[in-house]
Amino acid sequence: MSEAHEALSSYIDSSPTPWHAATNAAERLRGAGFKQMDPGQEWKRVPDRGVVVRDGSLVAWAGAPGAAVAPIRLVGAHTDSPNLRIRPLPDTGRAGIRQLAVEVYGGALVNSWLDRDLVLAGRVAVSDPEVPGGVSHRLFHHRDPLLRVPQLAIHLDREVNEALTLNRQKHLTPVWGLGEPDEGGFRHFLAEEVGATPVEVLAWDVACADAAPPQVLGRQGEFLAAPRLDNLASCFAAVEGLADAAGQGGPCVAVLYDHEEVGSTSATGAVGAWLAQVLERVAIAGGGDRSTLLSSLPSSMLLSADMAHATHPNYTDRHEPSHWVELGAGPVIKHNTNVRYATDSRGAAAFRAAASSVEVAVQDYSHRGDLPCGSTIGPLAAAGLALDTVDVGAPQLSMHSIRELMAVHDVEPMVRSFGAWLAGG
Ligand code: ZN
Repeated sequence: MSEAHEALSSYIDSSPTPWHAATNAAERLRGAGFKQMDPGQEWKRVPDRGVVVRDGSLVAWAGAPGAAVAPIRLVGAHTDSPNLRIRPLPDTGRAGIRQLAVEVYGGALVNSWLDRDLVLAGRVAVSDPEVPGGVSHRLFHHRDPLLRVPQLAIHLDREVNEALTLNRQKHLTPVWGLGEPDEGGFRHFLAEEVGATPVEVLAWDVACADAAPPQVLGRQGEFLAAPRLDNLASCFAAVEGLADAAGQGGPCVAVLYDHEEVGSTSATGAVGAWLAQVLERVAIAGGGDRSTLLSSLPSSMLLSADMAHATHPNYTDRHEPSHWVELGAGPVIKHNTNVRYATDSRGAAAFRAAASSVEVAVQDYSHRGDLPCGSTIGPLAAAGLALDTVDVGAPQLSMHSIRELMAVHDVEPMVRSFGAWLAGG
């Protein structure tokens, strides 16, 4: 059994996109005895441990949530991360260089995408007469580097170190070959990747991703540098926590949403009906009804898991003075009185109790009063289901960079405390 940070690194490395992250999480849960359900079939019965995937999102459960009136423990996280997405008509270029047109997804630190070797990954919709509807989606992950966004030489911008200005439209188009623009070239590439003809490729959702795998670094190996720690680290802990908690306590649920980085309003985002629909289907197929589910929710609680800001040693003035958060010192309860985080005293106390039961130390984050605070799925899911919610996450630096940084020692306590939470605290 590898250490927790190695298992997390492997999950991140194999999950360059939300669709991979949800698919890989379901595979992990199937290995732990969870039965995968088809979202498009009627569920006459549900297994005690089940999982359902839709696009880049997943809901998994153990112990028949909602089948009878009983508190449900939930943990939620998000599968998406900021990146560069390929446009529908991407083949472009100038000056003898072929390029792919991209659009920025989410609040990326776009400077971190400069001069990095990039791969491509995503899903391709292929004409397929064998399946209902005539279209199948195929995942691909091309691991050899293909692309790069070259930075302008300092000789052509002498002021760059004083103020780097990047125009998202003009300055982020990656290069991927030499020659005149190759109309249809990207479609040909995708066709090869998924074993189809170019004509059979109907549409795609494709992202650029860092080519470099996760890396342990530091004088004594203290740090884990990796893409997409926000929020695959939380997805990993949610899934591992659920696998550990299944059968230990009452009913419990893990939900991994897509689209958090772009506001969560989508069919599979935290604002949507996806979780509520799955819970209702599980309750009914488990022998309960809408009433047993609705009666269970007021005593249920959601842990909204998303990474937290560790205090940056070079920018301590950006942090609330009495609420510094340390890397390696355990999961962080995130508080905001204006409900950018959903935590209140009820949720904070419940998570503190769960963490304490497995000897995990907890930190508290509060944002500076003179900076706008970020948000996450917690307040949205809390509102949609009228659920008591606590926002928690492991501390990290470089949030929304192409490569982020956390402490190796924060991975396992996150899994342990999420497991204790799901088992009922
Ligand atoms: Zn996040």
